[in-house]
Amino acid sequence: MDEGTTSARAALYNEEGRRVAAQSEPIECFYPQPGWVEQDAEAIWRAQLDATRRTLAAANISAREIAAVGIANQRETTIVWDKNTGRPVAPAIVWQCRRTAAYCDALAQREMVRRKTGLVIDAYFSASKIRWLLDHAGASPRDLLFGNVDTWLIWKLTGGTHVTDPTNASRTMLMNLESGDWDDELLNLFGIPGEMMPRIVASSGVCGTALAEHLGAEIPIAGIAGDQQAALFGQACFSPGLSKNTYGTGCFALMHAGAHAPVSRHRLLATRAASPDRTAQYAVEGSIFIAGAAVQWLRDKLQLISTAAESEALAASVPDTGGAYLVPAFVGLGAPYWDSSARGLFTGITATTDRARLVRATLESIAYQTRDLVDAMEADAGQKIKELRVDGGATANNFLMQFQADILGCPIVRPADTETTALGAAYLAGLATGYFKNMEELSRFWRSERVFQPQMPVDRREELWAGWKRAVAQCRFVGSEQARKTSP
Ligand code: ADP
Repeated sequence: MDEGTTSARAALYNEEGRRVAAQSEPIECFYPQPGWVEQDAEAIWRAQLDATRRTLAAANISAREIAAVGIANQRETTIVWDKNTGRPVAPAIVWQCRRTAAYCDALAQREMVRRKTGLVIDAYFSASKIRWLLDHAGASPRDLLFGNVDTWLIWKLTGGTHVTDPTNASRTMLMNLESGDWDDELLNLFGIPGEMMPRIVASSGVCGTALAEHLGAEIPIAGIAGDQQAALFGQACFSPGLSKNTYGTGCFALMHAGAHAPVSRHRLLATRAASPDRTAQYAVEGSIFIAGAAVQWLRDKLQLISTAAESEALAASVPDTGGAYLVPAFVGLGAPYWDSSARGLFTGITATTDRARLVRATLESIAYQTRDLVDAMEADAGQKIKELRVDGGATANNFLMQFQADILGCPIVRPADTETTALGAAYLAGLATGYFKNMEELSRFWRSERVFQPQMPVDRREELWAGWKRAVAQCRFVGSEQARKTSP
C-alpha cells in the first residue's frame, strides 16, 4: 500500500519482486485558507481500501494468497482521533500546511531540537500540527490518539493496533533520532501527552493483522516506512553513500548514511532510513519544493505546453537557454537554502529567448536544484557519489535525465521499475515474513533500465553552474527586498 498526497495506490508483487497488478484512487486536498492544506482521514482510508481491493480483483487473486502487507505513506501528515469512537477530531493536517508557521518561528530551544531530532524547527513536521489539533479538538487529550497516515491505516486495518515505525517517527520532531524513542523533553516543548503517541516498532516485522472483513482474509502487516525512505529501500540503496532522487511534484534526495546518526553541516536533514532488522539505519535528506510542479505551471498557468511530456522535445529543440535561468522559488527555497522569503525569477532574457528556451530553463532548474542537494550531501559525506538512482514521474523525461548527468558529472541510473515507493514497502514486508530471502536477493531484483552518462565538457558545466548560482542569489535578493518593503 502506497498512500501518497494525491492518490492512494496499491500494488501486488511476486517472488521475483515484479509488480503483477496495481490500482490507484485519487485523494482530494482542501485549502480552507491561504497556506492551509487538509485531507479527510476517512477518505484516505476508503481510497486505500478501494485501491487495494481493486488490485486484488485486477490480478484475480484472493487475499488468502497474499503473504503480507507493507505500507508506505505520505510523511508528517497528522491525524488525531478519539480512541473510543474512532472518529478524527478534525481534518488531517497535510505536510504542506503552513498554519503553524508563526508558532514554530516563536519556539525557543532550536539547537536542542536539531541535536535530538536531526531536523530544523518547521511547520512541515508533525509536532506543531499535533499541538494545533489538541488546541482545537474539543476533547480531553486522555481520549485522543495521534498517528501519521501509516498509523491511521494500521489502526483501521487491525481494528485498534496503534503503532508506527522509526522512519515516520523521525519526521514528527518528537523522536530522539539516536535512541528511536519518543523524547520527554520534546513532548513537553510541544505540550503533547506521551499516552497519545503510537508504539514505535521495526520497519520490517509483523506488527498486526489486517482483519478479514477488509480484504477477504486475515493478512499480516509486516512493513512500514515513510514514502521517501521506502523509495530509498525500493532502489536497493542499502549501504552508506548510495543515493536516490525522486522527481515528482518536488524532489526528495536521500543518501544512505549507515548505522550512525549523521550531523549535516550543510543544511540537510538527518533522518532514519528503513532498516531490514532492529538496528538503526540513517539517511541524509534534502528536499526541493518545486520540481515537476514547475512543469505543471508551464502547462496550466502559462499554457506553453499541453502535456508535461511535451516539454522534452521542446527543450531538446534548442542547443541551450541562451544564458536564461528560471529559479522556481514559488514557495521559497527548501534545502540547502531554507529561505522562505525567496521568490521565483526568470533572468538572463534576451531577444532570442523564446518558448522552447523558457521550457528548457524550467527543466534545467530541476537539475540545478538537485545539484545543490548533491553538492551538500557530498560535502557532508566527504566523498563524491558514484551514481544517482532516480524515480518519480519526471524521470520519464530523457532530456532532463541527460542534463542531470551533465550538470552533476555523474551517471544517472533509471531503474526498470520506477514505482520504488510501493516496492520498498513490499520488500520490507516480504523480508519480515520470509517471502523474500535476504538483502542480496533484493539487490539482485533491482535492474537498471537506462544509464545516462555525463557528456558535457567540465568547463561548460561549471560555466552553466556559476550562472545558476548567480540566479539563485538574485532571487533571494528579490525576496528579501520584498520582505523588507512589506514588513512594518
Ligand atoms: P507526485 O508523486 O508528487 O504526485 P509523480 O511522481 O506522479 O508526482 O510525478 C508527477 C510530476 O512529474 C508532475 O509535477 C509533472 O509535471 C511531472 N512530469 C511528469 N511527466 C513529466 C515529463 N515527461 N517531463 C517533465 N515533467 C514531468
